[in-house]
Amino acid sequence: MRVSIDSDLCIGSGQCALTAPAVFDSDDDGFGLVRPGSEDGRGDPMVKEAVRACPVQAITFAEE
Ligand code: SF4
Repeated sequence: MRVSIDSDLCIGSGQCALTAPAVFDSDDDGFGLVRPGSEDGRGDPMVKEAVRACPVQAITFAEE
């Protein structure tokens, strides 16, 4: 599995970093990013919650 954020869609709501902080962070401008080394989702069940929580469906979590 691979988690990614479409930066063209992200509006910087910060929900992903709040929901699954082990996998997501916010950059200096508040936009979401996947923490380096966490692209596989780290087996964190909250990643799927973060996908649902994103208000603009910018997060993809899918088979590579
Ligand atoms: S929840 Fe979605 S819109 Fe908000 S920071 Fe994360 S990727 Fe961006």
